[in-house]
Amino acid sequence: MGNELTRSPMPFMHQLSDAVILLTHDFCIHEMNSEAVKMTGCTLPELKGLSISCLLPDLNKKRNEQQTILSGDTHDPMLVDVNIDDLGTDEKYKVCILKPVKTEATDAFQEDLLVALTNIVPDFIGIKDGDGKFVYANKFSGEMFGYPHTEFVGKTDAELGRLIPYFKPVFDYCIETDEGVWQGGKLQRCVEKIPASSGDRIFDVYKIPVFDDEGSRKNLLVFGREITDQVSSHEKLQESESRYRLLAENSTDIISTHNVEGEMLYVSPACEQLLGYTPQELLSKKAFALFHPSDMRASLQVHEQLLRGGDISNFQFRLKSVNGEYRWVEATCRGIKDETTGTVIEIIAVTRDISERLEAEELLRKSDKLSIVGQLAASVAHEIRNPLTALKGFIQLFQSKGIVDCEKYYGIMLDELNRIEQIITELLILAKPQSKKVEKKDIKELIHYVVDLLDRQALVHNVHIVCDLGENLPLIDCVENELKQVFINLVKNAIEAMPDGGIIHIDSKRQGRNIEIIIQDQGCGIPPESLKKLGEPFYSTKEKGTGLGLMTSYKIIQEHNGEIIIESHPGKGTAVKISLPIR
Ligand code: ADP
Ligand code: MG
Repeated sequence: MGNELTRSPMPFMHQLSDAVILLTHDFCIHEMNSEAVKMTGCTLPELKGLSISCLLPDLNKKRNEQQTILSGDTHDPMLVDVNIDDLGTDEKYKVCILKPVKTEATDAFQEDLLVALTNIVPDFIGIKDGDGKFVYANKFSGEMFGYPHTEFVGKTDAELGRLIPYFKPVFDYCIETDEGVWQGGKLQRCVEKIPASSGDRIFDVYKIPVFDDEGSRKNLLVFGREITDQVSSHEKLQESESRYRLLAENSTDIISTHNVEGEMLYVSPACEQLLGYTPQELLSKKAFALFHPSDMRASLQVHEQLLRGGDISNFQFRLKSVNGEYRWVEATCRGIKDETTGTVIEIIAVTRDISERLEAEELLRKSDKLSIVGQLAASVAHEIRNPLTALKGFIQLFQSKGIVDCEKYYGIMLDELNRIEQIITELLILAKPQSKKVEKKDIKELIHYVVDLLDRQALVHNVHIVCDLGENLPLIDCVENELKQVFINLVKNAIEAMPDGGIIHIDSKRQGRNIEIIIQDQGCGIPPESLKKLGEPFYSTKEKGTGLGLMTSYKIIQEHNGEIIIESHPGKGTAVKISLPIR
């Protein structure tokens, strides 16, 4: 043996703590140290002369350093670091050093990692053995109970309850639930409350029992996650929901939610008082089914607008009540959007009964009308009585004197009768519901008609009418005769305002969605304090005026959804602006 050693090309290899195999230049095993024998599980006589490939089947002979598999008969294949170098310079031998890749160390490292991980999570993680003693508790457990987490190890819940009396009820509860989990034999979830100065902390706890091969209790894994915030926000949500529900249930307005098809998902009880249906009767019915046929089109438009994300306020329509009558209501609606897609998924509506309000408004309108009629009647009586008194006087005169030489009175009498006739005619326009034919008309034609009609009268007063009516004005929906009447009234006023002659400019042009007609004169003008009286019945500053022209004009333009604005500068002239919508 000693001789052999001295003859060895690498005598010191047996002193090395690494596994060393001496190879011939063609990678055949020549010598092994005891560490190599231990590692490979083979002796030198078994391997001498064989290729190293019988131990390292995947060895790449061209590389000096590599990690490869060491196969063996007596042990599982093992990962090894291999280092092969020439021995000396004659390239006769090579030294092969084998070092196991430290898997054990890696396991320990992985365990360290896991422990580190469990220590950074804000969750309770504990492992108990079959007797209920802790074998592991993470850092959070210690913080939770104000007790070093390493001190949990080896102790049962009962012992911990004695050591930390403040939490005794918690540990007692754990003992109870642990036992339940063992007996149940599978994962169980429970809620645990841990007292804290700021109120109970609530944990969602998972407990997993692990049994050994014989079915005995081995380990209990406990994982607890704090859900205090979720629970309280859930409670708050429920609280606010019940508050809103309370509001909805007690509101006199109908509060309802609908899906995108209009089906009712929720209806507040007010529907019973308003329409006579119970909420249950309406649920999952389409709201449209209750709409008045005439409101259908507008309602569908509103619905589309809501689905596009628009809000609707004060939409007025009629709803059918249980006895078949329709009630006027007013709804304010909004689409609820899906947070992620932004599309409207639900519609919420607040619907209010307005039939009483409408009745009151109607009454007001009627009484308003009545007062105007009353006012008119009084004025008419007054206006007509004067000429009538005159006429009566003449007739009494004729009666007392016999019918002699009354020629000279006829002129005056006719004048008075004419005046009565004029008043009656203008009043009739106001009062009589004439057949109104709405047609599309060219406003320029109407103005030309009126100008032709009044031109002669204008020239008598030395007044010239100049028109600038613009090109390509759209046709408008109107009652032709009524608009003619307005233009006649206004142009006549303009002529009458210029007793010494002048020019009347009539312009018309498109102004956005309106047609604007301006009649501008160079007449006497209207003092500011009189401006607000314009349009009042019988307000006239003319000796033979009726004071009905402007009033009639205002009424007609209003009925055409238009507007009259009068601007005047005393001594300079007046501009009357009529604006009519193009539809
Ligand atoms: P009338 O012409 O019969 O007096 P209107 O209602 O047409 O009744 O007009 C009322 C009053 O408004 C007129 O009496 C006049 O004082 C004033 N007015 C109307 N148009 C003009 C105008 N273009 N220039 C000056 N005053 C006007
Ligand atoms: Mg007039």
